[in-house]
Amino acid sequence: MPKVVSRSAVSSSTDAQPTASAAAALRVYYCICGEFILVIEKSLSVLPKRKTDGATIVRSQDNATGKAVVFKFNANHIEPVLIERPGGHEWQYRFSCPRCNLLVGYQSTPPPIKSAPYLYILKGALTQVQGQVPKNAFELDDDVAMSDS
Ligand SMILES: [Zn+2]
Repeated sequence: MPKVVSRSAVSSSTDAQPTASAAAALRVYYCICGEFILVIEKSLSVLPKRKTDGATIVRSQDNATGKAVVFKFNANHIEPVLIERPGGHEWQYRFSCPRCNLLVGYQSTPPPIKSAPYLYILKGALTQVQGQVPKNAFELDDDVAMSDS
């Protein structure tokens, strides 16, 4: 009989777990100026990266290869740019920090956010610690890093 009691106690604690861990799993990211930019259900460090520029790939829509990542993105739309790639050209509809205008990400179609299959977060643009420069911020542009040192 004591075993039955302990078993029911275990099952009630596992029932409670999913809600608690889902809330705890939400990550918040800030611009290096301290502005809140992104809340997301997964750490950016575990998401795939683009080979071309190292940007983090956030799936914004369900598609054949997987489900959309749940996130809220707080950024301003700015002028799109046409980027030259080895295989051709690519439009980037860009987003910047609402406070300091630092470029934080882009997608392949005009706004609103999530109208494209993916959102790209620029390498080194966001940090999980408010007011702290991300470790890889200076890997963004070799010329900038060189002129700084
Ligand atoms: Zn900022």
